[in-house]
Amino acid sequence: MSDQIVPFVFENLPVRGSVIQLERSWQRMIGEHDYAPVVVETLGQAAAATGLIAHSLKFDGSVTMQIQSSGELRMLVMQCTSELEMRGMAVTSDTHEAQTFADLLDKAHCAITVDNGERPYQGIVEVSAESLVASLENYFGRSVQVPSLLALFADGSKTGGILLQQMPGQTGLADDDWARLGFILDTLTFDEMTGDEPMRLIGKLFAEDDVRVFGPHPVAFHCPCSRARAEEVLKMLGEEDAIDAVETQGTIRVTCEYCGRERGFDAVDISKLFADNVVAGSKIVQ
Ligand SMILES: [Zn+2]
Repeated sequence: MSDQIVPFVFENLPVRGSVIQLERSWQRMIGEHDYAPVVVETLGQAAAATGLIAHSLKFDGSVTMQIQSSGELRMLVMQCTSELEMRGMAVTSDTHEAQTFADLLDKAHCAITVDNGERPYQGIVEVSAESLVASLENYFGRSVQVPSLLALFADGSKTGGILLQQMPGQTGLADDDWARLGFILDTLTFDEMTGDEPMRLIGKLFAEDDVRVFGPHPVAFHCPCSRARAEEVLKMLGEEDAIDAVETQGTIRVTCEYCGRERGFDAVDISKLFADNVVAGSKIVQ
C-alpha cells in the first residue's frame, strides 16, 4: 500500500470525494511511541482526516487538528501541509483504562487551524463521544458549511479514510442519493478500506455511480523540527533551571515529541544560549 490521496468526482451527482491510505508514514508517526490501541486508533483516524482536509483546501500552508480533553487523552495534534507532509502525536494521562473513543475523552473539543502564512483561520467543534467521524461531520456542516460524509479507520499498521463533500454552490443533490452515499460509508470496513488500491476501492464502493478518478498525490511523514526550536524550548525553561539541569545531568537532552529526534546541549551550549539572550536583551534596552 502506498501513502497517497486519490481525488474523484461523481459525474452524476454534485459531489466530490477523496480517499487516503497511509502505511509507512503512519508507522513512522507512532513508531517512537507506546500508545494504547484506542489512542493509536484515534490518532490514526485524525491523521487520515487531517490529510483529507488539507487536500480538500486549495492553499499553501498547513492544517493542524488539535484535540484537547480532560479525559485520558489530554491532547492530540495532527498537522498536514499543503505538500501533504504530515506529523502528529498524542499526550495521555498515566491511567491506561480507556477501551473506547468515548472512554478516552472528557469535555473534549477539536480545533482545526488553517495557516496559510497570512491570517490563520480556526474552527472549533465539540468532540462528540460517539466518534471522531461524527464530530468532524458536524464541523464541516456547521463551521465550514460544506455538508460532508466521512469514514475513518486505523490500526497500528495502516490508516485510511474517505471524504465526500457536496460541491459548494451546486444544487440538484437528492436526499436519497446523499443518504445512499452515507450508508455506503457507514457500512465500510477496515479491511475494505485498506485492502484495495484506491482506484479499485472507489470503483467497488460507487459501482452504481459514474465516477471520474484523478491521479494520486503522495503523502509523506516529515517533521520540520530543528535545533533552533529546541533552543526556544530551553529558553522557556529559563537560565537558572537550564544551568541546574546541565550541572546534574551533564547534557540536557531535548526530544522532539513528533519524530523522536534527540538533541543534546552541554554546559558550553547552555551558557552560549543564555549569553545570546543577554546580548539580545541589551540591544532592546538601547
Ligand atoms: Zn521532530
